[in-house]
Amino acid sequence: MIKKKIIAIDGPSGAGKSTVAKILAKRLNYLYIDTGAMYRAIGWKVKEEGIPLNEESLKELCTSTEIRLQKVSGEMKVFADGKDVTGEIRTPEMGLMASSVSSFQCVRERLLELQRGMGRNGGVVMEGRDIGTVVFPDADIKFFLDAKIEERGKRRHLELLSKGIKDDLISITDDIKKRDEADSTRNLAPLKMAEDSIYIDTTNITIQEVVATMLKEISRDYET
Ligand code: C5P
Repeated sequence: MIKKKIIAIDGPSGAGKSTVAKILAKRLNYLYIDTGAMYRAIGWKVKEEGIPLNEESLKELCTSTEIRLQKVSGEMKVFADGKDVTGEIRTPEMGLMASSVSSFQCVRERLLELQRGMGRNGGVVMEGRDIGTVVFPDADIKFFLDAKIEERGKRRHLELLSKGIKDDLISITDDIKKRDEADSTRNLAPLKMAEDSIYIDTTNITIQEVVATMLKEISRDYET
């Protein structure tokens, strides 16, 4: 029987990670795991309950809150204490909240445990910021997706418009820059490329081309 792999995808916001991870997971019949959604769900809970951003309060929140990713009618949904927050967590505000809570040790420890539990047996395409460096440093294959900031801003703008969220391109691009900066300079599990990652710049190539490159690398990995 062919071993089911752990495929790690990291990179900054808007590099195309979620889009290609979903396609890859479908093609390989693997589980798609969006770890950013888990940080967003904690951020959502913090806002909903007005929790102050300090280690002690967040620790209590993390211990008492159940974050769950579950496939419902073929779509991966995110639940916080049983409430489906999949739609609500996709706003730029929740992106920044996620980035804020993600720098706290208790939050990272809690989500790390859940993420490792979900990927342990392989058969997963897991995307985020620290999958190849911290969550699964021994992942079978690692990709780092990147794109020019202007392109990433445009993509996020279009994505939000398609969800009925109107925000201007400049402020969306600024939010992404802020998050890039915070995510790559924090002390704990900063966004960085693992040494053994395959780097793909998606600025000028189509989603189909990115997926084709990744599938080629994955099948090469099967041969070795
Ligand atoms: O990927 P997404 O934009 O949904 O992630 C939201 C935020 O969650 C990121 O900006 C980052 O701060 C945090 N995150 C993280 N580690 C991950 C995934 C996301 O710190 N593995």
